[in-house]
Order: sequence, then C-alpha cells, then structure tokens
Amino acid sequence: METVENTKNYKEKWAECLTIIKDILGVDQTGVQSFRTWFEPIKAVDWKDSTLTIQVPSEFYYEFLEENYIELLSRVLQKVFGPNINLKYSVWVKTDQNTGKTITTTHTGKNPASKNVPQPTNYHPASNVIKDPFILPGVKGVIDSQLNPYYSFANFIEGDCNKLARSAGIAVAKNAVKSTYNPLLIYGKSGLGKTHLVQAIGMEIKDLFPKKNVLYVDADTFERQYAQAALDNDRNNFLHFYQNIDVLIIEDVQLFAKKEGTQNAFFQIFNYLHQKGRQIILTSDCPPVEMQGLSERLLSRFKWGLSAELTVPNFETRLEILKQKIQKEGIDIDEDVVEYIANHISSNVRELEGVLISILAQATINKKQLNLELAKDVVEKLVKSTQQDISIDFIKKTVCDYFNIAPDQLKSKTRKREIVQSRQVAMYFAKIYTKNSLASIGSQIGGKDHATVLHACKTVNNLMETDKRFKRYIADLEKRFKLQ
Ligand code: ADP
Ligand code: MG
Repeated sequence: METVENTKNYKEKWAECLTIIKDILGVDQTGVQSFRTWFEPIKAVDWKDSTLTIQVPSEFYYEFLEENYIELLSRVLQKVFGPNINLKYSVWVKTDQNTGKTITTTHTGKNPASKNVPQPTNYHPASNVIKDPFILPGVKGVIDSQLNPYYSFANFIEGDCNKLARSAGIAVAKNAVKSTYNPLLIYGKSGLGKTHLVQAIGMEIKDLFPKKNVLYVDADTFERQYAQAALDNDRNNFLHFYQNIDVLIIEDVQLFAKKEGTQNAFFQIFNYLHQKGRQIILTSDCPPVEMQGLSERLLSRFKWGLSAELTVPNFETRLEILKQKIQKEGIDIDEDVVEYIANHISSNVRELEGVLISILAQATINKKQLNLELAKDVVEKLVKSTQQDISIDFIKKTVCDYFNIAPDQLKSKTRKREIVQSRQVAMYFAKIYTKNSLASIGSQIGGKDHATVLHACKTVNNLMETDKRFKRYIADLEKRFKLQ
C-alpha cells in the first residue's frame, strides 16, 4: 500500500542508490561525467508492487541506460531495494505546445534480477556470489554471446582514427574460421570506441555464422570467474568452458597485469584456441609494448596477430558521429550547435555523446531552448569540471620538478637539451590543459613567441611517436596532471 512513509522511503532509497553509483563510477573525469550525464537527471517517481519507476529525459536515455548501465543499475537497486525489485522507466518525451502538459511514455525495464546475470555466469543476486560460473547444465548448443545489438558496424562511423582497426575487424568477421589476424588486439584510450568495435565484430560473426559460439567477456569478469573456480577447485571446468568458445572477445587485458593465476589460465586458453584456429579478439588501453605486469610469453603471443590503434577522431568524424546520434534520437538541432560541440569536445567520443545528452536533458528537463547558448553552457561546465585549476604556473612547476631543473631555467637562452626539452614539454601541456592562446603560452613560458610554441607542440608530438622513453615521460606527466 502506498503511504507517505512508503513514498519517502523509495525516494530516499533512490538517493542512496545515486550515492553508491556515483561512488562506483569514480572521481576521474569519465566517472564524474558519466554520473552527471546519466544518473543525476533521473528522478524516482513511483514505487508500487516492488516496481520502481524512474523518470528519464528521453527515449535515447532509456535505451542508453538499458544498454550500458543496466548491470550497474541492477546491482545497486538490488542492494538497496532488495533482490526482487523491478524497474520501469517513464520517458519524458515532450511538452505539448498548446496545453503545456508533459507527454510521457513508459517502458518496462528488463527485470534487474534477470538482467543481472551475465550468462554464462550464474549470478546469485541475493548473496552477490557467483554460482557455477561456467557450466551450462546439459547445454551443448550455442551460448549467449553477451553482445549488445546497438554496437553494430552500421553505426560505427568510419574515420582516419579507426580505419585500420575497423577494416581489420571486418576482415576478422568475414574470415572468422581462418583469420590471419589472430589475435586481433584493438587498443586506445578510454572512450574511443574499443568496446563498440569489438562488439560489432562479434555481432557480425553471429550474423554470418549463427552457430558459432561467440563470447564477449571483460577482464574483470574473466578474473572473477577464474578466482571462483580456483576457490572451488574447479579449474578444469573453467578451462573446459572457455576451450569450447569459437570466438573469444576479452576486453581490457591490461587488467591481467600482475595477476599470475588468471594470466596462466588465460595463456592456456589462448594457446588452445589459437592452435585450433579459433579467433581471439582483445582490447587494451595501451599497445603490447607498454603493457606492464604481463608475462613475456603472453605479450609475445599478442604479437602473433595484429594490433590496431583507435585514435582521436578529427573534426569531420566527430561531426558525423554527432549527426548519427542526433538522427537516431530523432531530434532537430541547428548545425551551428552541432559544430560547436564537435569543435570543443575533441578527445573522447564518449564525452561527445555525453555533452549531446546533457544538452538534450537540459532542454527537456529544465525546458531550456536547445540553442547555441545552452550548448556553450554545457560545454563550459564540462570543461571546467574536468580541467580545474591547471595553471601555467602549475604546469611549469610540475614539468621542472619532473626533469629536475629550476623553473627559472626555462627562461634561459641556453641550448642545453634538458632545458629546451622541458620548455617544449611545458608549452605542449599548456596548450592541452589551459585555454591560453599560443602567444600567451609563449610569453609565460620562457618569453617566446607563438611560432615557438607551435613548433614545440609539433616536436613533442613527433618525439612521442619516435622515442619510447620520451613517450613515457609524457605519460608520467600526464598522470600527474590528471590527478589534479
Ligand atoms: P572504449 O571502449 O574505447 O572506452 P566505447 O566503445 O565504449 O569506448 O565508446 C564510447 C562511446 O562512443 C560509445 O557509445 C560508442 O558507441 C561511441 N563511439 C565510439 N566510436 C564511435 C564511432 N566511430 N562511431 C560511432 N560511435 C562511436
Ligand atoms: Mg570499453
């Protein structure tokens, strides 16, 4: 029965869920932004018969949550509301121009209790314990691939940033039976499309060869399953399960670092599958040469196949990606707004989408006009929240500390390599992390002109490509700035 007490409870409980979700998503840039974009705008609007109704700003939102966050949502909802909770979405579609009334549609979410089960793992919601992780009793047929149909090649926009990876992916899909790219390793920074691409490969293979056992699994799940198997003295079943897979997709293999047991198991599975000509597809956040804490023998296996990098998309590609999402959403946005977003969010496709959704959310929830002004507002807030307080002084100090020189030396006219290089690196980071013009960066770092800064940025980019040690310096420094 609905009582006041009851009503208060579910809203409070939802607030509790939000706190947990925020915690899980983390305090780094992506975590904070994901939370803001996807969870903060959600309101709990009803609670009846163990069913929680949440209100989301648009159809796209609902789909996105179901596709990307349902596991997280389910876990948290079950924890806070109990294992039998169901979820419903109320979608705020639009405001009727004449009556001012809000029109909504509803969707029944997939029952968290069932969606929570990343098959073939049997996840036990009540106790958070994985039961019989890999055995499908009596099932010899085709397993659930854990693939998300949204991630198809059809909506994966091609650009210079993904040409090699994408065409290698298509080749692998077509020749899943005897591919020459085995393993195929897709690497790149977060938010550049690794998951989308490997899922698309998996989907394509399922389309072309429906009987093939394709399995998509992330490194964490694989590791958890292995740990459980080891605990239950059940390694053989674990290995056996994986040895039956025709196409194995494992995400984020860099996470196997320093986990010897898991690495060994993976190595064994890898060898078995490879020998049988089964396809292995992996992702990681860095190329094999930079993977630390992975055994040499495993790394050398990675080199048997093809490694392809996903890089940052250029303006045209970003524009195209945005346009596709807008079309899918079925909304009307002025070209100048879209171009503004593509221009200002340049290094991460997930952020690109995030900004678009934030703008839509603002426009629908806060009933703001979807115009350039709103776009500027949202972008500025994002940039502020992710690039707080990095000043040129801080950059100078950090770089000088790192290379062990005194900040004053940046001004010196000497041609000493470490000084010239420190100056160039400081200029490079100032360009990335601050909004200063080239001229202003030049005058603040060593009293140089804008052409010197431009040259410095190019030099740093070139060195990163040719000099492994230099690249590591930049990565180290980057970490220090990101901790800010
Ligand atoms: P990663 O796994 O590298 O962190 P994802 O695959 O999760 O990145 O991509 C982040 C988001 O950006 C996803 O929603 C994905 O659909 C989208 N995306 C990335 N690259 C493209 C692309 N080339 N075309 C369309 N959408 C893309
Ligand atoms: Mg991913």
